[in-house]
This record gives sequence, structure tokens and C-alpha cells, in this order.
Amino acid sequence: MIKWIKSFLNSNESIESKAFNVILFVGLTVSIISAVTTYFEGIGLLATMSTLMCGVLVLIVMFTNYVLKLEYLSKVMLCYVINCFMMPVTFFACGGIDSGMPLYMICGLFIIAPLLTGRARGICFAISMVVHLGSIMLSYNYMAGAKPWFQYHTNILTTLDLKGRIVDVMASFLLVGLFLFSALVMMLKAYVKQRDIREELLAKLDDLSKKDELTKLYNRRELFNQLEDADLFKEPDYTVVMMDIDHFKVLNDTYGHLFGDEVLREVAGVLGAAVNEEVGEIAARYGGEEFALILRGSTLQEASKRVDEVRVKIGELRWEELPDVRVTISGGVVPAYGYENVTVLMSAADELLYDAKEAGRNRVFVMQGGL
Ligand code: GH3
Ligand code: MG
Ligand code: MG
Repeated sequence: MIKWIKSFLNSNESIESKAFNVILFVGLTVSIISAVTTYFEGIGLLATMSTLMCGVLVLIVMFTNYVLKLEYLSKVMLCYVINCFMMPVTFFACGGIDSGMPLYMICGLFIIAPLLTGRARGICFAISMVVHLGSIMLSYNYMAGAKPWFQYHTNILTTLDLKGRIVDVMASFLLVGLFLFSALVMMLKAYVKQRDIREELLAKLDDLSKKDELTKLYNRRELFNQLEDADLFKEPDYTVVMMDIDHFKVLNDTYGHLFGDEVLREVAGVLGAAVNEEVGEIAARYGGEEFALILRGSTLQEASKRVDEVRVKIGELRWEELPDVRVTISGGVVPAYGYENVTVLMSAADELLYDAKEAGRNRVFVMQGGL
């Protein structure tokens, strides 16, 4: 049973259906227990019958919901029949305001909130409230303290003696407390689970929109976002690097695209490991076999030394299946300080990269003397 409850709480059902299920199962349990309690309290056959009827009603709603699959009808039926019929009848049969029935009436109102929506919820709540207040008001007419011209001497209202009142209020308090507590806890759990799923999904989507699928580096869009957001041109410690794998087309044509992809992943691994994201550095896939780095906090000489180390590491990459393959990369390194916009800055880095290619590849060119 505990296992079943746990798997139910952990299921991916919507929070609304979970709330409905919780209300049905906890409601059925409470109805049965209160019918048994009422029987042993000896309040009367009508009292036992009416509480039992609440349980039967829940069973009927379960049938329309689980078997006939009429979820909305089941919810409307439960809210209206419980509040506008079962509650008043049980109220009069079980001892009116001397009993624990007003507590149950609050439960009746409570279930409307998660089961119905919009205008239907407001209307049902208002009607139920009027019915409940009307029942309480009417019960006064049957009581000894009412004004004689207002008082009806009938035996519609079951009256409880002092001991009966205390036992009934205590039992009702216990059951209503359990119902409200467990229903609310389970609904909150369902809400927290859905919120966690949503947050996980949003984080995944965020990651997918920023990262390149093949290399897991940032994509071009995210690179430009970060370039636009950073105080790139005002702070003197940003360096932008453009890199491009040499003769990658030949590699693809000779060993196939799948191997080419593997090379891209390995090269990206070296580039990713070379930056420190915590200080605002990033490595991105700029295009096919082109990459960009934003480096921070170092002089141009230090930055170019780091880029050259990356170049050497890429040259040292080896593949078990093709041990003779060597990959080289060329790069252009430009300090960002003083440029007017990102496009001009990137073109400057691209030009340097082109120069490095022209000069024979497998080298890193650095912008000398700034702008
Ligand atoms: P260079 O040294 O002048 O840069 O020459 P290159 O051959 O590297 O440059 P080129 O621009 O001629 O060729 C780049 C190749 O990269 C062509 C394209 O098929 C390949 N490419 C682009 N994206 C991918 C990819 O995602 N996977 C693979 N396997 N190949 C890709
Ligand atoms: Mg290339
Ligand atoms: Mg290229």
C-alpha cells in the first residue's frame, strides 16, 4: 500500500488529476471511518446512513472518473452533490452545529478549490456557501433557544447530549484534520514534483539553446550574446581568438565525416579545457571547423602563450584507430579593448587567422600594438 502511494506520488500525472485522486481516496477513507464512528456513537440510523451515503457517492464518482473516464463531470458531480445535498442532510442527521459537521462542511468547500476552475469554481463555491449557511440558519429554528414564533418543534434535527457532542466533535476534528493535512501534503508534493520537472526541462532547453550539439561547446549565438553583454571594449583584459582546423576538408575526404566529427569533438575538448568559465572565459564553435575563444585577465602576451599551448596540444592529439593522423590548427589573437563593435572585432581576428593560414598554417598570429 505504501509502495503504491509512493509510486502514485512520484507518477508524472498532472497536479490536477493527482489532487482529484487524493481527494477521492482520502475522502472515501474518511467517509467509511466516520460512518463506522457514527454507528458506534449511536446517533441514529439516519446519521449512519447519510455518512455511508457520502462514501457511496465517492464510489459512484470514482466509477464515472476511472471507468467511464468522465473526469470533468465527476468533479462537478462530487462538488455539487457533496456540498448541496450530502452535507445538509448529514448536518441535520448528525446533530447540526453541536456536532462536528461544520468541520466537514469546511472540507466540502475546500475540495472545490482544486477540482473546479474559473467561473464554475466561483459559482459552486457561492452556491455551496449559501447552502451551508442556510442549513446552519435553519437548524437554529429547530433548537430550543430560538424565538417561539420562529421555532419549529419537529424532530428533523438530531440532538446530541453533552457526551455525544464531545465524542462527535473530537472524532470529526481528528478525521477532518487528517483529511485536510494529508490532502494538502500530497497536493504540495505533486506541485513540487511538477515544479522540479519543469525546472529541469527549462535548464535542459537553456543548455540546448546555448550549446552546440556535436562539440558541447557554446554555439555562435551564445558567443555573440556573451560578446554583446561583456564590457568587452571598455575593460583592457579581454582577448578574442579565432581558430580554424587546417586542411579539415582533406581529413574529411580521406577518413570520412564520422571521423571528422570525432576530430571536432577532440579539438573542442582541448579548447573547452583551456578556458575558465568562472572568470567569464568561453570557448565556442563558430562554424563548421572554426572556433572562437574569449579569454580574460591576462596580458596579450600571456593570452597568446595560452593559445599557442592549445595549438601544440591539438597537434599532439592521437587516434587509436588511425595513429598516423595529425591535426593542426591556426589562430588569430586580438585584444578587444577599444574596438567599436563585435563585428569589427571578429573580422580583425578573422583577418589575422587568414594571415596565419597564408603564412603556412599551424601557427597563431597576434595583433601587434593594438589598434
Ligand atoms: P583550411 O586549412 O584553409 O581551413 O582548409 P579546410 O579544408 O580546413 O577548410 P574548408 O573551409 O575548405 O573546409 C572545411 C570543411 O569542414 C568542409 C566541411 O565539409 C567540413 N565540415 C564543416 N562542418 C563539419 C562537421 O560538423 N562535421 C564534419 N565532419 N565536417 C564538417
Ligand atoms: Mg579549416
Ligand atoms: Mg574554415
